[in-house]
Amino acid sequence: MSIRELYESKDGPTLSLEFFPPKTETGKRNLLERMERMTALEPLFITVTWGAGGSTAEKTLELASLAQKSLNLPVCMHLTCTNMDRNIIDDALIKCKAAGIHNILALRGDPPIGQDWSDLEASQSEFKHAVDLVKYINYRFPHEFCVGVAAYPEGHCEGEAEGNEQNPWKDLPFLKEKINAGADFVITQLFYDVDKFLQFEQIFRKHISEDLPLIPGLMPINSYLLFNRAAKLSHASIPSNILQRFSPEIQADDDAVKSIGVDILIEIIEKIHKVTQGRVKCFHFYTLNLEKAVAKIVAISPSLSNVLDGVEDENDEAATSEPE
Ligand code: FAD
Repeated sequence: MSIRELYESKDGPTLSLEFFPPKTETGKRNLLERMERMTALEPLFITVTWGAGGSTAEKTLELASLAQKSLNLPVCMHLTCTNMDRNIIDDALIKCKAAGIHNILALRGDPPIGQDWSDLEASQSEFKHAVDLVKYINYRFPHEFCVGVAAYPEGHCEGEAEGNEQNPWKDLPFLKEKINAGADFVITQLFYDVDKFLQFEQIFRKHISEDLPLIPGLMPINSYLLFNRAAKLSHASIPSNILQRFSPEIQADDDAVKSIGVDILIEIIEKIHKVTQGRVKCFHFYTLNLEKAVAKIVAISPSLSNVLDGVEDENDEAATSEPE
């Protein structure tokens, strides 16, 4: 089923979950079990990431297809378009169709190590930006896929090295272009500054669409090191009132960090729920293939609380591979 239709059929807040394909068979088995357990959180859909340049093509397609078959949930497969032959894109979309996957998150991807965004701009490739992929999917497979795109509440980081400031207004015409090309829903980059998301939501509603699903991306805090690393990699700012909650003693205590992280994420969810008054109906979790923090957030959050079953230990291989 299409994510857009499902979203529109929902009244109350719900969630979605992102996973990445593990490197090994054991990791894949563990992850599929974990995904199955996490269906108890009643996600609206799950997504499976795609390695830039098609580096995980086979593993992404396999995981997405297995999940689509076994979870009884819509699966959304991420697909990037730069540095990829058109045949890989065609092959991926044909395989998705055959596996019953009807939702694609259409992304540009990042340049390979050693290149930068201006190399992508200058390349002869027919896919320079995500909008090219949105157009291609809708042209090549009309009405076959519900297509999502990415957005950046704090602005996309491109051009920062050249002194261009990260700024959501800069991306706005291009986000609009993606929607005009037929995108059906939007998932945002992770953020910890809820006010920046809320400002972005206002801009989005005024200048892009009053009713298109805009799904905020949230990454639970599993360790202080990972929290800082993820924020840095995603160019997400961490407000000082959040940083202050992690004193040096807390930083060294993973359990305490996780517990404060759960509180922070719940505060973010509740504020969005309250301020947007139902305009935001789904919260997307970048799970990093981990279960406990998401399960706790969902259990405690007044807006998301659900019945939970069997949250298990995370000390298996699926949890230890690197994301994307
Ligand atoms: P675009 O929409 O193409 O935008 C990229 C930049 O180009 C922006 O600065 C934009 O302002 C600018 N731009 C866009 N169109 C034009 C135009 N016509 N002319 C000039 N400038 C333009 N990466 C992966 O490799 N695999 C994944 O699975 C993955 N999943 C992601 C999921 C989410 C929810 C998000 C937010 C990101 C994900 N990424 C993933 C990262 C993403 O590929 C990078 O952030 C990438 O740099 C931008 O992708 P995009 O689709 O937003 O690109």
